[in-house]
Parts: sequence; structure tokens; C-alpha cells
Amino acid sequence: MAKNLTILGATGTIGVNTLDVVARNPEKFRVIALTGQNQIDKLAQQCRQFQPRYAVVLEPDKANALQTLLAGTATEVLAGMEALEFVCALPEVDTVMAAIVGAAGLRPALAAARAGKRVLLANKETLVMAGRFFMEAVREHGAILLPIDSEHNAIFQSLPANYDGDPARHGVRRILLTASGGPFRTRAVETLEAVTPEEAVAHPNWVMGKKISVDSASMMNKGLEVIEAHWLFNARPEQIEVVIHPQSIVHSMVEYLDGSVLAQLSNPDMRTPIAHSLAYPERVEAGVNWLDLAKLGTLTFEAPDFARFPCLKLAYQALATGGAATAILNAANEVAVAAFLDRHIPYLGIAASLENVLGRLTGLPAGSLEDLMAADAAARREAQMWVDRESRVARR
Ligand code: NAD
Ligand code: MG
Repeated sequence: MAKNLTILGATGTIGVNTLDVVARNPEKFRVIALTGQNQIDKLAQQCRQFQPRYAVVLEPDKANALQTLLAGTATEVLAGMEALEFVCALPEVDTVMAAIVGAAGLRPALAAARAGKRVLLANKETLVMAGRFFMEAVREHGAILLPIDSEHNAIFQSLPANYDGDPARHGVRRILLTASGGPFRTRAVETLEAVTPEEAVAHPNWVMGKKISVDSASMMNKGLEVIEAHWLFNARPEQIEVVIHPQSIVHSMVEYLDGSVLAQLSNPDMRTPIAHSLAYPERVEAGVNWLDLAKLGTLTFEAPDFARFPCLKLAYQALATGGAATAILNAANEVAVAAFLDRHIPYLGIAASLENVLGRLTGLPAGSLEDLMAADAAARREAQMWVDRESRVARR
């Protein structure tokens, strides 16, 4: 029986890789809904190729444009956040790939969890913002959660198949989360001030969307992933250790009480974790190059330098603070990264603004999803004020 998919964020890097794996296994997967935001031509082309029942965009004018491009096809075009939630909960859909970038991905991912779907979670922001509520929804509604983030997918594969969220019961001592160290791992710290957006998005090993590429350069991505691992595997912050591994071959590891360390290795190609989760517990072809260890020769590891990567430290601190702190961190980071990409603040302004916003807003309530949404909004306002102030100062 083919699995029926909704792919949120189909036009993005993860979405495109997902469709590539689907196209290689047409008898195993059927696309029911595709969603996108701005790239209407690309979404239309995907719809012509995969013939989903629904295509969803956020804005009505984009929906009209898409409708025109899809005239004469069987795909129905819908618009808005409710439509995104609707295609996550369709009875005929069993699997939802949650690959929207940023906080916008939370509501649809939550809708999929509440509908008891298999949720393939790429959107780490969902867990960073609202990990407690999302994991509760997964448990309460019997959803199956499979991590797409390569590190978390590696951890998932290195944990026992019956892992139930209790590290002690399974003899798990630590999670070793690997990080490439990004493009600035060895750059002189004094020159980080002058980093340009082009330099920050040029990742040595992975091709990704712009936002996550900047997050990889600052290691905020790893910070968000520490928080993600905390919620996914119920590990305490001090049980999650970041190890820099520049070759991006070992995607993460689990250390057990007897000293065993289990790892998942593969070439850095997101189609591996995507294919793993799409087919789980089976395996399908992903189109990736086979790993040639003899040709690689050397795999190296080093400890991260918190002075070089202050964002990583801020993420650990936010996780330790708990409550709304990680939602605040995530929202302020989205604003700061966008401002950096638009050249309104320098690279080092990202960490500086986060520190400022976290300092001002810690202590906001986090007792409900609405509280966290409000904390997210407050952090965006505060971060935007910081950005506006800085860019005024810079122009003078
Ligand atoms: P991307 O920028 O390439 O694509 C984002 C997708 O989301 C696009 O389809 C876009 O149309 C859609 N989108 C953006 N804003 C939206 C909004 N407000 N409402 C609805 N749709 C919107 O991003 P990506 O690299 O594919 O990453 C997607 C998610 O996966 C992110 O959360 C990222 O952290 C995570 N992730 C990505 C990678 C990777 O290798 N690219 C690895 C691990 C995790
Ligand atoms: Mg990752």
C-alpha cells in the first residue's frame, strides 16, 4: 500500500529533496497535498509532475496566480493558514512532511500531530518554540514522530527501536550531537566582524535554505538542535554534548553506560534521513552516493569554542532557563538573521541582539501555547527595535 503524503514547504530544500525520493519510489508514495509560499512557478511545476489533490499557498493573490497556472488540472488550489492545517489533517493523508522554515511551521505541524499522523519533522522551530505542547499533542493523539534533521535522525537510528523517552531505562548516558563548525570554524575571530551574508550562507558540506545556512555559520543551528534533541529524546541539557566534526559524515551518536557509542554515518545528503523517515521501518533507495570511507581517509572531531560561537552558549542558557526562553531565542534569531541577510546589522549583531532580547524578556509566561505565541511576538518586536536602533547608529 502506498503512503499518502502532504508535503509542507514543498518548494524549499527539504521539500525538493522529499519529492526527489518520492519520484524514485513511485509505487511506495503518493502526493496528496503540496504547499509553498512565494515560488508559484516551481509549485505549479511540482503539481504538474506529482498531481496532488490540493496545492496550498498563504496569500489569496498567490493562489489566484497558481490557479491560472494549473488551469485544466485536477489540483484544487487553497489559501491561508487554515488551509495548511486542513491538508495536514485530511483522512486520506497518513504522513506529513513538516518542512516549512521558521515559526510559521508550528501551527500546521501541530495540526498534523493532533490528527494522529506520522509527522516527519524538519521544522525544528516547532520544538524550540513549543516543545512541551507539541510532544504532548504527539502522545495524546497517537501521532508518530520521525526526525528529519540529519543529527536527530542519526540519534533516532542509534537508539533502541523501543526507546520510550527514558534514557536511564535504556542505558543511554549521553547524546553526542555533531556539528560541521560551518564556514567560520577556523577563521580568525577578529575578522568575524566583517563577515558578509554571502560568506555566511556558503556552507562547506550542505546545500540548505538561507536562514538555516546563517544559523549553521553562527552555530545557532546547533543550539536549536540541542533544544530539539532535548524534546525529542527527553535528554537533559547536560546529557547533550556538541562535537565538531568538519567532514559531516558521522551525523550524531548515542553513548551507552557500558561505553558503547553507536553512530549513523552517510554522505551529507538530506535524502538519506528523508528516505529513512518516509519508508520507516522499511528502507528505500534515496539516490545518494555510497559512502567511500577509504577514500575519505580521515574523520576528525574537536570541542566547540563558545567564544567563537556565542549563539551556541545562548541556546544552552535558554534551555536551562526554560519557560518561554527558547521561544524568545528562536523568534529574536529569525529577526536578527533576516536583518543580517538584508545588511541592516553586522554578523556579530546576531548574537548581540539575542543577548539583549533574552535579557529583557526572560520571565514571560509559558503556561499555554498562546503564551508562547505572545512571547514569540514580543521577542520579534524587541529584536526589531534593537535592529532599527543599530542600523540607525551604523548609518550615522
Ligand atoms: P527553505 O527556505 O529552502 O524552504 C522553506 C519552505 O517553507 C519553502 O517551501 C517556503 O515556500 C515555505 N515557507 C516559508 N515561509 C513560509 C510561511 N510563512 N508560510 C508557509 N510556508 C512558508 O528551507 P529548508 O532549508 O528546506 O528548511 C525547512 C525546514 O527544515 C527548516 O525548519 C530547517 O531548519 C529544517 N532543516 C533543513 C535542513 C536542510 O538541509 N535544508 C536540514 C535540517 C533541518
Ligand atoms: Mg541538522
